[in-house]
Amino acid sequence: MKLTILGNNGPYPAPGGACSGYLLESDSGDTCILIDCGTGALANLMASGALDRLDAVVLSHLHYDHMSDLLPMQYAIQFHPRKHPLPVYAPLTPEPVRALLESAPCYDLWPCEDATVGEMKLSFNPARHPVETFAVAVRCDGARFVFTGDSNTDALVELFCEGADLLLADAGLSAADWKPTAPHYSAALCGQLAKNTRAKRLLLTHFNPKDDPDALLQEAREFFPAAERAVIGDIHYI
Ligand SMILES: [Zn+2]
Ligand SMILES: [Zn+2]
Repeated sequence: MKLTILGNNGPYPAPGGACSGYLLESDSGDTCILIDCGTGALANLMASGALDRLDAVVLSHLHYDHMSDLLPMQYAIQFHPRKHPLPVYAPLTPEPVRALLESAPCYDLWPCEDATVGEMKLSFNPARHPVETFAVAVRCDGARFVFTGDSNTDALVELFCEGADLLLADAGLSAADWKPTAPHYSAALCGQLAKNTRAKRLLLTHFNPKDDPDALLQEAREFFPAAERAVIGDIHYI
């Protein structure tokens, strides 16, 4: 698979940055999904030229930093018409936010349940976050990609992450800012998660603009020396 980073911030974008957005394509190029579409991710999706090729959108949850650009995307689709509505896999709650997407005729809303999209098999696991949120796994081309969504530590999320070829993890907090009731992992905990679940690779994301991503990377590398950080425009082959 080919992963393109479209956004790496949360819960708001850094200057010139973008929130959660990840384009995932099969090796053949025949299957293409967008995971999350936060503030600024749509502009980077347009730069990638992939809007016309999208087979589905997967939203880990309905916080605005993960879904807000799906609202103007309906206008973009008016100028890039599709034969069929674009399937969107999203949590059922918060209902007012989901209703915004359901009212757009260009989208075909589905719950976050196991699904096959072209060559990709999608699976979901509830994450630990203040709203209904899912970790997302995609199996394709003999590899397994896992995205934690937004989450704090959770035994079932850890089990779900087991053996990822690439683990994309929510490093929304520094170790100093983390606490057990926080809505996010710390970067150090992402490193521990990758180590404990024998991930082949770890990519940190969801950088708060107030934090230094390189400092967070160092925190994660204490536990998982091969950790990398998601950088907008970077492409990773899984
Ligand atoms: Zn977030
Ligand atoms: Zn969130």
